[in-house]
Amino acid sequence: VVLRLKNIVKEFPTSKKNKRVHAVSDISLDIYENETLALVGESGCGKSTLGKCAIGLIPPDSGESIFLGENIYDKRGNDLKNIKKNLQIIFQDPYASLNPRMSVGEIIAEPIITHNKGLNKSQIKERVLELMEDVGIRKEYYHRYPHQFSGGQRQRIGIARAIALDPKLIVCDEPVSALDVSIQSQVLNLLKDIQERRKASYLFISHDLSVVNFIADRVCVMFLGKVCEIGNTDDIFEKPLHPYTRLLLDAVPSIENAGKKREILKGEIPSPIDIPTGCRFHTRCPYCSEICITKEPELREVCGRYVACHIVK
Ligand code: SF4
Ligand code: MG
Repeated sequence: VVLRLKNIVKEFPTSKKNKRVHAVSDISLDIYENETLALVGESGCGKSTLGKCAIGLIPPDSGESIFLGENIYDKRGNDLKNIKKNLQIIFQDPYASLNPRMSVGEIIAEPIITHNKGLNKSQIKERVLELMEDVGIRKEYYHRYPHQFSGGQRQRIGIARAIALDPKLIVCDEPVSALDVSIQSQVLNLLKDIQERRKASYLFISHDLSVVNFIADRVCVMFLGKVCEIGNTDDIFEKPLHPYTRLLLDAVPSIENAGKKREILKGEIPSPIDIPTGCRFHTRCPYCSEICITKEPELREVCGRYVACHIVK
């Protein structure tokens, strides 16, 4: 286990006094060495918040994020700095996430300079050029600025910055959803490649199940701040057990699904401010029964994976 999340809770205040957004409600997860764990679910289900809590970008209200045995929220100063260099993030929007006033060379050098005070200028430049090569950006572009690159190239620069300190874990927050479909697979292949070479783990946040099927070893399905189902990618795609997972997969257009009568996801997503009682999915679930309205299902082991649903056997 590289990173263990324990009972993470994160809420945000709203303009109304007694109302809070329940973004993440008591989630525990393990991320293993060199694996890609995908977090999937519709927007607003708490995926990004959980990803940011995992690496210390935002503090949870309660819970622990344990990196190689140590809770990052107990650490301060240099200890924290040393942990954080192992926990990096790639953002969704390659246009907004790079400082427009810095050259590519400066952007990639920034984390290296912050964490390796001993390196001289030419050593830093050498590292930056290696990283550029690693992600497929031509060395001649060292002095160029972000606006001179396409979206796909910018995401490559974001990846170079994220891997500059050889992190153990990278949170990839929708890293290809802002890109053209033709560019997406290039960036996904690059991420796979980098993982093979550098042995990093990815917490891969996405709402796109075909992307997830391509890249993830395991999948964690979230709904309204809770985990519905977590298991191996192949198992989940072959035989989803949780009703929500089934509906999500049914909604993906594919050759297998063509002509099949789809169980459409009905109803609005309930608000994360007014969470439904019992099973949070009950207002949309075609299998909802009495107990679902009153009792919240626990996440329990079923056929080699974990599922939170009263009816799954
Ligand atoms: Fe549906 Fe009940 Fe299972 Fe929730 S617990 S997913 S409402 S069947
Ligand atoms: Mg998000």
